[in-house]
Amino acid sequence: MNEIQKEFLEILADVRAHLEYQRALGVKSIEIGSQDIQPPTAQPAAAVYTKKQTVAAPAAPPVVKEPVKTVAAAQAGQPATLESIREEIGDCTRCKLHKGRNSIVFGEGDPKATILFVGEGPGFEEDQQGRPFVGAAGQLLTDIIEKGMKIKRAEVYICNIVKCRPPNNRNPEPDEVETCIVFVKKQINVIKPKVIVTLGNVPTQNLLGTKQGITRMRGVWQEYEGIPVMPTFHPSYLLRSPGEKKHVWEDIKLVMAKLGMAVPEKK
Ligand code: URA
Repeated sequence: MNEIQKEFLEILADVRAHLEYQRALGVKSIEIGSQDIQPPTAQPAAAVYTKKQTVAAPAAPPVVKEPVKTVAAAQAGQPATLESIREEIGDCTRCKLHKGRNSIVFGEGDPKATILFVGEGPGFEEDQQGRPFVGAAGQLLTDIIEKGMKIKRAEVYICNIVKCRPPNNRNPEPDEVETCIVFVKKQINVIKPKVIVTLGNVPTQNLLGTKQGITRMRGVWQEYEGIPVMPTFHPSYLLRSPGEKKHVWEDIKLVMAKLGMAVPEKK
């Protein structure tokens, strides 16, 4: 080895030492030419450089993108929750009611509620707000719960047999009920209420699988999958026939007694 070669190796060693030092400081590349060349993915044994090349420090570990975890994915194989049921419903187009809806009215209240009220389907206000029983009938239901039962509306759970508003508030049709009732049943399964109160013909007949009318059914304990069910009149009916309120109060008192709640003498 001649002197020039020795000198070249010494310079090379100095450069290598300098690059190691820079790498230890966290420097990933040093531009030594006008062209910026991306570092190779494999870690070089030592820094490699040629004229107009970037001296590569070890490649950064590849960025692993975390998959977006949906509730459903996170809970695959796990018991359903109200959130996973809502996610399963998605932006539903399973039945024709989706065409006219503004919002899907899933239901609201305490996910561990003792009492579950099941109505028919959202009306205009509910469709606008995406919440069940918030119109005139909803106010009456809220009064039954808060002024009558003396509990907060947020302590119960309220939902409907169908989650989208039927046009002109007509009754949901059998195919619509059949499509949507699976979700109510899943909600019941998750909430596991001690008592279900069905409001009017639609939830009473469809949940209990009967064709009997509400006038004959109300006030008589029924059962859905081992859960006591109290059918009573729908609040919309009470708005039209306020004289029937006393019957609903009788039914509600039965519910309160079953749950060991103090029953006020008068509503
Ligand atoms: N009637 C219902 O059956 N459900 C609502 O949410 C509102 C009115």
